[in-house]
Amino acid sequence: MASSSEAEILRVSQVIRDRWKIKSKIGGGGFGEIYEAADLQNHNESVAIKVESSKATKQVLKMEVAVLRRLQGKRHACKFYGCGRNDEFNYLVMSLQGKNLADLRRETPRQCFSLSTSIRIAHQILEGIREIHSIGFLHRDIKPSNFAMGRSTSNQRTVYMLDFGLARQFLNQKGEMRSPRSAAGFRGTVRYAAVTAHKNKEMGRQDDLWSLFYMLTEFIQGSLPWRKIKDKDEVGRMKENVDLNSLLEECPHELHQFALHLRTLGYLDTPDYDYLDRLLSQVERENGITQEDPFDWEIN
Ligand code: ADP
Repeated sequence: MASSSEAEILRVSQVIRDRWKIKSKIGGGGFGEIYEAADLQNHNESVAIKVESSKATKQVLKMEVAVLRRLQGKRHACKFYGCGRNDEFNYLVMSLQGKNLADLRRETPRQCFSLSTSIRIAHQILEGIREIHSIGFLHRDIKPSNFAMGRSTSNQRTVYMLDFGLARQFLNQKGEMRSPRSAAGFRGTVRYAAVTAHKNKEMGRQDDLWSLFYMLTEFIQGSLPWRKIKDKDEVGRMKENVDLNSLLEECPHELHQFALHLRTLGYLDTPDYDYLDRLLSQVERENGITQEDPFDWEIN
């Protein structure tokens, strides 16, 4: 606590609702804090608890809870164990996963993943994005730190989608597309944001997929051309004017087709997820990649 300017919301050994005992802090992002805790009512099973101060100006945990509840049963969603609020904080209890993909990439010697790891991870993220879109929500902050590998033997090869703090419903109660707003504030993370977000326009389903595309390119090549640029507008212009041939220099040609499909899509269009899935399968086939290949972090 000495090193952080703000006091932490929970302390080690604190017990929430007579059930979850806080063990350690594992993350503190933009909006909340994430802790590992032991479930006293279930053999001390490890869980993750996300908390947000009741005084936080932007209350997003309610949205996260709503999205995570609707995602229950989907392959790439954490299990929902409970939620609640008191005078001090709001909390969400979910299954605890392993390392996020940003940390895993940082730990590699060249800051990149092998083609096999990159493509298979991207394939799972595509499925995850399809799952959240299927319940009528956009994620709007697709980036490596918002995906984690499972941590038990049964799920350590599965990718989990985290953080629905910026999610937005794109379907109304009747299941129709909500009309786009003429202007929307920038949401997301500059490095991975789609051009639509840079332009402060309403994001659509293709924009989550643009972020996946940038992630995948970075996984394979180790960096993106705008990596060192701080100015959001400058990054937006670079993305808009990017030459796909030079951006994708070391990538399989299917990624070019991936981007060309995204370029055809506007807010109202449904992306052709099957086509994108087939492109990734084709890369796997052409490069002899199989599901049994070890992931980079499994090799030692
Ligand atoms: P914020 O909205 O504050 O950025 P996130 O939900 O993105 O918080 O979580 C921040 C980090 O905490 C993630 O990058 C991940 O490393 C870790 N984390 C979040 N949820 C879990 C979880 N269920 N299991 C394991 N780690 C998690």
